[in-house]
Amino acid sequence: MVTIRIHTKYEGAWSDADELLLCLDTGKWRFERPVVDSKKCNYCGLCALFCPPQCMMDTGDHFEPNLKFCKGCGICVRECPRKAISVLSEGEFRDEEKE
Ligand code: SF4
Ligand code: SF4
Repeated sequence: MVTIRIHTKYEGAWSDADELLLCLDTGKWRFERPVVDSKKCNYCGLCALFCPPQCMMDTGDHFEPNLKFCKGCGICVRECPRKAISVLSEGEFRDEEKE
């Protein structure tokens, strides 16, 4: 198995993603939300590598989407080798966000 870990932003394909890409309000485009099962995640970093707006964030032992920028494209779900990411309709979180 090939393991890829992104230790610094300079190893990513888009080295200045923090400054350049994470300025678009892409979170508003989302109809579906990726949800990571941290117990299944093996911290390989592939979701972060493939995520178009580079919004999969390293928490130290797994990756989580930054929902401010996640546009719900589902690419991370398809690329995850551990099937650790599920996609849920945004409607399922509607009540939670009102609280
Ligand atoms: S969620 Fe999947 S692709 Fe992302 S780091 Fe974990 S195992 Fe790898
Ligand atoms: S669904 Fe996954 S790949 Fe797409 S923007 Fe959100 S975190 Fe990135």
